[in-house]
Amino acid sequence: MFDKKNDNKKNKKDNNNKFKSWPLLVYYVIAIILIFAVPFIINPRLQKAPDIKTTDYGTFLSYVDKGVVTKAEILDKKVAFEIEKDGKKQKYETSKLEDPTLVERLHNEGVKFERIYPTEPNPVLATLISMGTTILILVVVWYFISKMMVKRFGDEGGVGPMSFGKSNAKIYVKSTDGITFENVAGQDEAKEALTEIVDFLHNPKKYSDIGAKLPKGALLVGPPGTGKTLLAQAVAGEADVPFFSISGSEFVEMFVGLGAAKVRDLFKQAHEKAPCIVFIDEIDTIGKKRDGAGFSGNDEREQTLNQLLSEMDGFEGNDGVVILAATNRPESLDPALLRPGRFDRRVPVELPDLAGREAILKVHAKKIVKDEDIDYNAIARATAGASGADLANMINEAALRAVREGRHEMTQRDIEESVEVVIAGYERKNAVISPNERRTIAYHEVGHALVAARQTQSAPVHKITIIPRTSGALGYTMQVDEEEKVLMSKEELFNKIVTLTGGRSAEELIFGVKTSGASNDIEQATKLAKAMITRFGMSDEFGFVAMEAVTNQYLGGDSTLMVSPETQYLIDKEVQKVIEEAHEKAINILKENMDALHEIADYLLQKETITGEEFMEILNKHND
Ligand code: ADP
Ligand code: ZN
Repeated sequence: MFDKKNDNKKNKKDNNNKFKSWPLLVYYVIAIILIFAVPFIINPRLQKAPDIKTTDYGTFLSYVDKGVVTKAEILDKKVAFEIEKDGKKQKYETSKLEDPTLVERLHNEGVKFERIYPTEPNPVLATLISMGTTILILVVVWYFISKMMVKRFGDEGGVGPMSFGKSNAKIYVKSTDGITFENVAGQDEAKEALTEIVDFLHNPKKYSDIGAKLPKGALLVGPPGTGKTLLAQAVAGEADVPFFSISGSEFVEMFVGLGAAKVRDLFKQAHEKAPCIVFIDEIDTIGKKRDGAGFSGNDEREQTLNQLLSEMDGFEGNDGVVILAATNRPESLDPALLRPGRFDRRVPVELPDLAGREAILKVHAKKIVKDEDIDYNAIARATAGASGADLANMINEAALRAVREGRHEMTQRDIEESVEVVIAGYERKNAVISPNERRTIAYHEVGHALVAARQTQSAPVHKITIIPRTSGALGYTMQVDEEEKVLMSKEELFNKIVTLTGGRSAEELIFGVKTSGASNDIEQATKLAKAMITRFGMSDEFGFVAMEAVTNQYLGGDSTLMVSPETQYLIDKEVQKVIEEAHEKAINILKENMDALHEIADYLLQKETITGEEFMEILNKHND
């Protein structure tokens, strides 16, 4: 993951690894030894020189009497003396006794002697020295332990005192593994917008010669999984420059100032390696709008953002550092980030269209051993709304399925099945469902399919199944459009609501009961009806008026009503009216097709899963 080319950093790492292998105990032992050794080092008198022999007091006196003692020092607790015998000198010491005659004896023998009083150490100095050494030892031990922690728990565990204010020289460079624009399928507009940056990195002179400044940064905006990271990597791969990657959330640290330090560090490294790409994922985590409200602001995040802004202002576009950032909530970004000279380019990376999905499927299927005639177009048609990441996942699931079933190549069937797995979860073959419930489910699903098939302008039925799925679906009807729909007319939307009510309508007609199985249908129908009224201006009552604003369009699209409670009440009434009408229409369609409903439901109960063709075949028999 990290760049291996950076030898300096690597050596430094190796050195640190040496500390890592020392157990904690070793440091404690060293510290304790130091604590005991320091007094000896400071006061050499405590040491005993090796050439001094110890003897008893009697021997000392006899030496004195023999006249061999040349010199004596009378200390507090002992007597140190020197004798000279056969021209050789020898130092001795002996413990001191209460001996009033000693001075006289020494004097008589003509020995040079003196009484040595212990020197009083300067009390202030002594305290300072002992305190100083203790602190020194503590700091040294602390330093090594923190070093070790950092190495053990990775750079994020920067717990040591030395790690404040610097981010442990973390290396953000990531290998792009030869990813180029070829790996990114579809997204032609985004690729085109980024090609200029690639060209600039290849050939900066061309731009500086004419005096042009390239944008310092581009903001990739789109829903999750659409390939924003992939595009940024591809830019680095195409230009063959280092790729610095960090996620916005990595900047958000516990301590104020650490995030800002990381930003500084990142840009320092980037400048050393320029030309290069710096990619900041999820920039909204640090780039959120700042609120000027006193204490409520998040200091740490603001400091980080300010640091980022000043780093971006601090270099010229021609330095060769290009910043790419990705976000799926562009509306929440601080306007300061979007000012000219910062992220002044905005590159939309939208969900892939039909052609895009087909291309993405092909790119990911390339690496897989597969049946040659797979109809990618059919699969792309069945996966409207899927992101690049979803499609990549589907292909992988399909390959896994082939392996699970002991085959050596992936087939169309595998992909179709994995599409359903991604949409609805795995089949629950051993789920226990009573015969009565199975009947209810079968009629419910055929109800949807029949209502869809008997209306104009609704997508053809592709498959009906009553095999339960792990997502909780007990059965479902899959409709696949012949072609991609970009616009939906009022009639199409209404027909869709009718189809959604078709399941419940069949239950009511056949069994005369309502079950909980329709909850998802009801939810979808309500959402659609509401959108028709509040956003698409499709109701007679309200007309061409927007009453709802969609926030974060890329993440599920939360919406907020912008109307008074009274209007809200009227909207709710209108929604009810639309769904009521749809429900009535569905009931009528089913009543007219009762024979077909029974026959297809029976067939489905036998087979569990039927295709669109089988369905149409039976239905067509009942055409007048
Ligand atoms: P984002 O950063 O937009 O959330 P990523 O770039 O991380 O999405 O995409 C996740 C994965 O989805 C990629 O690694 C890739 O396998 C697949 N993918 C997404 N979009 C595409 C695409 N246009 N072409 C090929 N693969 C794609
Ligand atoms: Zn249903």
